[in-house]
Amino acid sequence: MSIAKPWIASYPPETAPSLEYPRVPLTHFLEEAAAEFPDHHALYFMGKRITYRELLTMSYQFANALLRRGIKKGDRVAIMLPNCPQAVISYYGALFAGATVVMTNPLYTERELIHQLNDSGAETIITVDLLYKRVTQVRPSTPLKRLIITSIGDFLPLVKSWLYPLVQWKQGQKPQVVYSSDVEAFLAVLKESAVTPVKPDIDPENDLALLQYTGGTTGVAKGVMLTHLNLIANALQCRAVLYKCQRGRERILGVLPLFHVYGMTTVMNQGISIAAELILVPKFNVKEILGLIDKTKPTLFPGAPTMYIGLINHPDLAKYDLKSIEACVSGSAPLPVEVQNRFEELTGGKLVEGYGLTEASPVTHSNPIWGRRINGSIGLPWPDTDCKIVDPATGEELPNGEIGELAVRGPQVMLGYWNRPEETAAVLRDGWLLTGDMAYMDEQGYFYIVDRKKDMIIAGGFNIYPREVEEVLFEHPAIQEAAVIGVPDPYRGETVKAFVVFKQGQEVSQSDLDEHCRKRLAAYKIPRLYEVRTELPKTMVGKVLRRQLQEEEKARREQT
Ligand code: AMP
Repeated sequence: MSIAKPWIASYPPETAPSLEYPRVPLTHFLEEAAAEFPDHHALYFMGKRITYRELLTMSYQFANALLRRGIKKGDRVAIMLPNCPQAVISYYGALFAGATVVMTNPLYTERELIHQLNDSGAETIITVDLLYKRVTQVRPSTPLKRLIITSIGDFLPLVKSWLYPLVQWKQGQKPQVVYSSDVEAFLAVLKESAVTPVKPDIDPENDLALLQYTGGTTGVAKGVMLTHLNLIANALQCRAVLYKCQRGRERILGVLPLFHVYGMTTVMNQGISIAAELILVPKFNVKEILGLIDKTKPTLFPGAPTMYIGLINHPDLAKYDLKSIEACVSGSAPLPVEVQNRFEELTGGKLVEGYGLTEASPVTHSNPIWGRRINGSIGLPWPDTDCKIVDPATGEELPNGEIGELAVRGPQVMLGYWNRPEETAAVLRDGWLLTGDMAYMDEQGYFYIVDRKKDMIIAGGFNIYPREVEEVLFEHPAIQEAAVIGVPDPYRGETVKAFVVFKQGQEVSQSDLDEHCRKRLAAYKIPRLYEVRTELPKTMVGKVLRRQLQEEEKARREQT
């Protein structure tokens, strides 16, 4: 079956047309790409290329292997891998088997891992040998029955696959995997199985493709239930916004982790739906990425602001050719205007800001890539995405220009939180998802995020949105990064504290920063406290962890 609508929708997203969403399993995109472009490269990983035919074959093999091991429709299968071919094969293999994928962050601590595995009930995990020890340690406290272990070198050319374990060994990291009937090697599992196509019996509107954990930065992680249709819809919405891209031609730099739904949708689901080559990068290292862009010539680079900031500030930047990049959507945090302009100068491509959240698969807004964009705005709602701004206290819709909570509705919005009806009822009302973000809309329908509802600081009765203060700090030429939080204050209730990272060799004094802020902010918003850091704690998609800074601050205050 082919997608009902031709994929190149020749309209700019401003006109917000309605798209058609085929009622097919998410695996359909891979089968379609492999039928049309079997010999095109689907994956690039450390010099190794895998074609669409090979990717489909291995995904079928993996699905057959899971079915033989008794995995049934709806069973949760955890994947804890960095970006590598095995992550893509496991993902499609699990989906072909009818399972629900639970993406697990490889950086999770034991506590987080135990929570996620228990909450999701995953009995199978696919992970990498370097994490074997951690998984084995948590296993008795979780429902895990089966471990499938891969090595990053599994798909690399012979020389590299020999060298890799050697390097691990030298670094004292070589893991001692003890194989048994329930601890199996990924390649052996793959090879043992038939290549027979597997047709899962999926109801795309109701069957879960993914249980995606979120809330780690704001509380106990909850499993977001995303259906096949949710993920298909967001990939097709993305493709409509990138309407100049061509099927079978694009190369996508896959730096965003695939275990976060932002990377999963914009790199993997969308990429495979246009038969693009996915350039998989397991770890963000600025110098390596500059070299990789120069070498592999990606055309698309979805990312987070910190990634673009890292690239444009690298001292060896001039040595690399970045001109292949044509379009980038930046999400997950605000994109500073100077970063956007500088990146566009360097690449000649477009970099626009977008917005989303896990509960919406994740993207709901972006600025038009080839149309009118407004700096500082997250842009327009994506096709078929309704939005309104509501009073967070009453839920009443507010007029244009007023700040309230952003609510969104569309085919990409989740079914709810896994086993958490109360939390679901708190954020999903009549199909509208309350995002927890304070925002406003201008006369032309462009949206602006003011801040997270929860991060608002109240100092002496005034509301302060950390983001506004961070943006002002960011405008200072010596500052590379800044994060602002509220800390307890005996007189004002809370006061503003800023954590700053200076550009190399450009440290300035607090009075310089005060003067800079005084010119741009009302007195009550000016940070009273500063802390200089060499880096800020961030999530894997580059979002600054304000909550971690708050916790560190709290712990320090309790000690003194
Ligand atoms: P997550 O569910 O981890 O993807 O996080 C979603 C949250 O990231 C949103 O609710 C926003 O608070 C934040 N976010 C995403 N994109 C942006 C953006 N462009 N500007 C500001 N905040 C953003």
